[in-house]
Amino acid sequence: MSKSQSDHPGQISSIGVVGAGTMGTGIAYVAALAGCAVSVVESTPAATQKMWAALADAVESGVKKGRITGSDSSLLVSRISALTHIDELPASLDIVIETVPEDLPLKIDVLTQIERRSPKVIASNTSALSIDELGSSINEPGRFLGMHFFNPVWSIKLIELVIGKDTGQAAVDAAIQFSRQTGKEHLLVKDHPGFATSRLDLIASLEAIRMLEAGVASATDIDRAAELAYGHPVGPLRLTDIVGLDVRLDIARALEKSLGSRFAPPGLLIDMVNKGELGQKSGKGFFEWV
Ligand code: NAD
Repeated sequence: MSKSQSDHPGQISSIGVVGAGTMGTGIAYVAALAGCAVSVVESTPAATQKMWAALADAVESGVKKGRITGSDSSLLVSRISALTHIDELPASLDIVIETVPEDLPLKIDVLTQIERRSPKVIASNTSALSIDELGSSINEPGRFLGMHFFNPVWSIKLIELVIGKDTGQAAVDAAIQFSRQTGKEHLLVKDHPGFATSRLDLIASLEAIRMLEAGVASATDIDRAAELAYGHPVGPLRLTDIVGLDVRLDIARALEKSLGSRFAPPGLLIDMVNKGELGQKSGKGFFEWV
């Protein structure tokens, strides 16, 4: 683990995360591992408990794999504090990243509250919503950009930085600096629906679900087609289970609106979400998760 960053001017030393679900937990982990003080806001107590449990598991696994030492692991956890309201965030943090569900009015409300805490940079981890549309709720949109992390955040080495029409260079520089501190690669994309990554990923997943619906092959064999024929590390159905079927459905609906019917969610996806089959987080999706 790197030492505290506060004595290195220009480096990122304080991070806020709003929403301690799958992504917020992962971002908190990598930020703390990079030496940042991390304030996590979560409105649901059960989700906060889940975050602490997931962090403990991630730390244990990091120690077992030799990625972090035992003393680093307690330091890492001590750098993270859990809050219940956005107005409890310390003022003037270096970057605050929202990781609440993919719901435009909710994100706009959260971003408006975040801005009142005057962070230097405000970021959204949205998978597909327009950065310009989200940024229109912010008084100083020059501070705002998309920082799209990938799940699991502790393993995937990419952050897609989404630049809105008003995003200022200082915000981009801070986001690049944070990417470096967390040991990640970044790519810069303009604000187009689905950016670069979500568009590619979603179209493959929706097609795989349509194939399963049409009885082309089993879920296992559809995934093996992508893994063995094309070298994908994880097949599109297993990846959908890991991402969360509800998250996929939200993104498909958003991209259907902006890019048209090729992103329309298949009936099977809608039915599974309605039944609570959300993938890994609920124990069942296209596969069983114990
Ligand atoms: P999630 O449902 O696991 O977590 C969202 C959390 O936000 C929940 O714990 C919820 O209680 C909390 N929350 C909701 N409103 C809040 C508020 N007002 N204040 C504080 N907390 C609040 O969702 P997720 O999978 O972590 O996704 C979050 C965002 O990241 C979405 O925009 C999603 O599209 C994006 N994303 C997800 C993935 C993925 O693989 N899951 C990957 C990349 C990006």
